[in-house]
Amino acid sequence: MRRLLRSSLPHLAAGRASYNDSSRVRRHLLSRIYQPGNLWKENSPELQAKPNDPSSKSQRLMYKAGLIRPSSPGCFHYLPHAVRSMEKLVRIIDGVMQDIGGQKIDMATLCSAALWRQSGRWDLVGKELLCLLDRHEQEYCLGPTHEESVTSLVATEGGISYKQLPLLLYQVTRKFRDEKRPCFGLLRGREFYMKDMYTFDISEEAAHQTYNHVCEAYAAIFRTLGLRHVKVQADTGNIGGKMSHEFHLPAAIGEDRLLLCRSCDFAANVETLPPDQKTCPCCNGKLEESKGIEIGHSFYLGTKYSHIFNAVCHSDHNKPLVAEMGCYGIGVSRLLAASIEVLSTEEDIHWPSLIAPYQVCLIPPKKGSKEMGAAALAEDLHDSVCAVPHLGNEVLVDDRDHLTIGKRVREAHMMGYPYVIVIGKKALERPPLFEVRNHRTGQVQFLSKEGVLGLVRDIRVI
Ligand SMILES: [Zn+2]
Repeated sequence: MRRLLRSSLPHLAAGRASYNDSSRVRRHLLSRIYQPGNLWKENSPELQAKPNDPSSKSQRLMYKAGLIRPSSPGCFHYLPHAVRSMEKLVRIIDGVMQDIGGQKIDMATLCSAALWRQSGRWDLVGKELLCLLDRHEQEYCLGPTHEESVTSLVATEGGISYKQLPLLLYQVTRKFRDEKRPCFGLLRGREFYMKDMYTFDISEEAAHQTYNHVCEAYAAIFRTLGLRHVKVQADTGNIGGKMSHEFHLPAAIGEDRLLLCRSCDFAANVETLPPDQKTCPCCNGKLEESKGIEIGHSFYLGTKYSHIFNAVCHSDHNKPLVAEMGCYGIGVSRLLAASIEVLSTEEDIHWPSLIAPYQVCLIPPKKGSKEMGAAALAEDLHDSVCAVPHLGNEVLVDDRDHLTIGKRVREAHMMGYPYVIVIGKKALERPPLFEVRNHRTGQVQFLSKEGVLGLVRDIRVI
């Protein structure tokens, strides 16, 4: 790959050659990464919370770290570091969804008004739909969710054979909602990434089983990320259906009010309880209020959409039965921001470690310093760490060697790389020692090259 790159695109290969080009290792050099914004201008106006302008910690940190930039209200550009994280997050979600039998599809963003009128949601959802007209005066909305599309797809193709059941179709695509008051960055935007899954079963019983499987899979995703979440009974809203649950990350900035039982595992969005409910409907225990950021939602739809579009499942006796459906969403970009919101400090980003943009940030000596004598060791260490299985693409070199080590370490912590390896003074000792900083625990260790390699071998990557 590298050889190919060099021969076909010589100018690119030459540009990469500044940090030892002797190996086949693919180098990620910070100086070359598009990451606008001077991280040291702490007082830049964009980072100041303005009165009456709601902002959130995740929004400020993501802006400061050059992860996102606003384009229009509630819409953002995702920059290289954020895209790396998002891709990792999607890989985790893909893995779990496919483990339970999910098949990934990718449906059209433009949804015809006719379909949405057929379900009655064109008027019901109303102003939250972003609508447009094509040159033939045909009306569309930019899909906020795809129950109509997927049900009509399955119905048009003649329904589902019993051999394919349960059928679990999902996608991870951009969705659109014309929020009246978008705020908090990626937490409440008008354009966002959502993972939406639609399930089809032949009976209510089978659909309940599928519902439970998907909810368990959601819990597995949040556990994998190391995020404490609560699952609460929820209102079915304009999606409709017979049963619904929300998944929340408890956070002060959360816009949903939740009531959690102290004595059993009952938990509910306050919207689903009578206003005067103070005790648990299951055990009579005391209910405690908490705020949450909604990151997932599940609905048992029954036959609401399959009935309208005539989506059927064929039994083994070839009898068509109206499909029992479920739909399930995870706000992927919101989950990215929400995890930063709940894990970070005011100054430093803390990622769920699996989705940090890079697992390791390597800081070589400052140019002209006496540590420069260890420059060759830095390159050797880089290549050795990259040679560790799965880490080849996970090592970022902060090659801005005009900056002091201290400044770069500070910035690496702000960016939240799980491991920062510094080639400093002790690298000149015999044997050379490298400073390894664990961002999560704050632990600083001085390790030999073998020690470093032993440690990084245990880093989990996705
Ligand atoms: Zn209870």
